[in-house]
Amino acid sequence: MTDQIAKEHLWFSDLSCEQLNVMRDHGTEPPGSSPLNYEKRPGTYYCAGCQTPLFHGDMKYDSGCGWPAFFTVIEGAVEMEIDHSHHMTRTEVHCARCKAHLGHIFPDGPMPTGERYCINGVSLKFKKEDV
Ligand SMILES: [Zn+2]
Repeated sequence: MTDQIAKEHLWFSDLSCEQLNVMRDHGTEPPGSSPLNYEKRPGTYYCAGCQTPLFHGDMKYDSGCGWPAFFTVIEGAVEMEIDHSHHMTRTEVHCARCKAHLGHIFPDGPMPTGERYCINGVSLKFKKEDV
């Protein structure tokens, strides 16, 4: 299954080992490791695999969980799937276009959505807004 996906998505060859581990093999980067945890400027977060815009800067908030967190997502940009790995039931979030694994969604986010998109920084590419 993984090999098949890798063949269909040649963009994987442009990614680092750490990115592949997260985006293709559903790994998780170490908490607190992403510089995007501290990113607060206006801009857009793109999928590191296929450059699809996933989140805007004003969707991000500081959850303190150790990963970049968002309370909502650009409509249609991601898909979700129930994930039973690690003896937990979580909702996995992946890019709707290239299917790269991004992170998980938890129901403990701020209002109005009450959702927390807990996303691996290596799956994202941030582009600051030109002002
Ligand atoms: Zn993608």
